[in-house]
Amino acid sequence: MKTIEDALEMRRRILLAYELAEREAALTGHHQPLNFVVVGAGPTGVELAGTLAEIARKSLPDDFHTIQPAKTRILLVEAGPSVLSAYPNDLRQSAVKQLQNLGVEVRTNSAVTNVRPGAVCIGEEVVPAAAVLWAAGVSASPLGAALGAPVDRVGRVLVEPDLSISGHREVFVIGDLASLKDAAGKPLPGVAPVAMQQGRCVARQIAADLAGKPRAPFHYVDKGSLATIGRAAAVAQFGKVHISGFLAWLSWLFIHILFLIGFRNRLVVMFQWAWSYFTYDRSARLITGESSVISVPSMEYAEEAAAHFDRDGQAGSGDARIATQEGSARSKSPARKVS
Ligand SMILES: Cc1cc2nc3c(=O)[nH]c(=O)nc-3n(C[C@H](O)[C@H](O)[C@H](O)COP(=O)(O)OP(=O)(O)OC[C@H]3O[C@@H](n4cnc5c(N)ncnc54)[C@H](O)[C@@H]3O)c2cc1C
Repeated sequence: MKTIEDALEMRRRILLAYELAEREAALTGHHQPLNFVVVGAGPTGVELAGTLAEIARKSLPDDFHTIQPAKTRILLVEAGPSVLSAYPNDLRQSAVKQLQNLGVEVRTNSAVTNVRPGAVCIGEEVVPAAAVLWAAGVSASPLGAALGAPVDRVGRVLVEPDLSISGHREVFVIGDLASLKDAAGKPLPGVAPVAMQQGRCVARQIAADLAGKPRAPFHYVDKGSLATIGRAAAVAQFGKVHISGFLAWLSWLFIHILFLIGFRNRLVVMFQWAWSYFTYDRSARLITGESSVISVPSMEYAEEAAAHFDRDGQAGSGDARIATQEGSARSKSPARKVS
């Protein structure tokens, strides 16, 4: 997930999965398992899994008559040995506990080997999936490669210590598109504070050039990391101080509101968040986007569609940001319009 369009598409497919299940249950008395599989347990995957659990258990139960959204199974699958690998051990363990309290199944040391319509493969195991949400990293903008400068494995530009590119002092690359290591040789994370500090650094480099002074290398000042998991659930590290749960979540809220531009925005967001907190209300449940055509899914259709995908070699897990039963449903008629 990277753009707002990706987020809207994810919302559409998640809500559609519930609609499909409701329709199937109403027609046949049963429905395909409502499993959502989140791949990658970094901050994005952890937040996504926690949010899905809350939506399923708190926001949706009253919206459906036939199915029970609260019984949705949410799997967070991570190839590495732990969730939030960049965080210290105590916070990682706390994150797992908080996720489990929300009803998320956490599976570490489990690599997703294939994603296809209606199912995800974890090693040899095939898990039926109403939607698969890819949170295991995004590749860099193709603009980086177009610069002709050396790039890393995911297409980020390898920059010099002053953030310019090799051989071109007049060209700077910063933020998610730049690849640079800290003093300990660890790559800088793709987070907003790195991008903001690099922006200020480049401004200083340009001012130094204009004043005929030497440039200083970029040093990232890590003021802490926060990962939110759900309502009153988060982990935070500020130097040697590690906090989790409600306090960490409050810090997360406070910092995000602080960085919003303008007093009015801060006030509006604060009010909206407080409202959602007390009412569990998630008002935006519109199913938007191109396709409003759905039909009752079945694993039989899913297998057929998967065979088709395998033949064409299009079902590589790297490409599959979101896969749903909808892919399988489309392969058979008759389809029905959602009114
Ligand atoms: C789902 C998600 C959750 C995240 N959560 C957090 C978090 O909680 N905390 C945190 O610190 N960080 C978080 N991040 C990371 C953070 O968003 C990025 O590190 C930060 O936005 C990087 O800033 P940037 O300016 O380098 O890139 P961006 O914010 O991506 O901005 C780049 C801009 O350039 C535009 N652009 C791209 N190509 C071109 C082109 N050819 N011409 C013109 N414009 C172009 C893009 O449209 C975009 O607007 C998250 C990222 C994601 C995807």
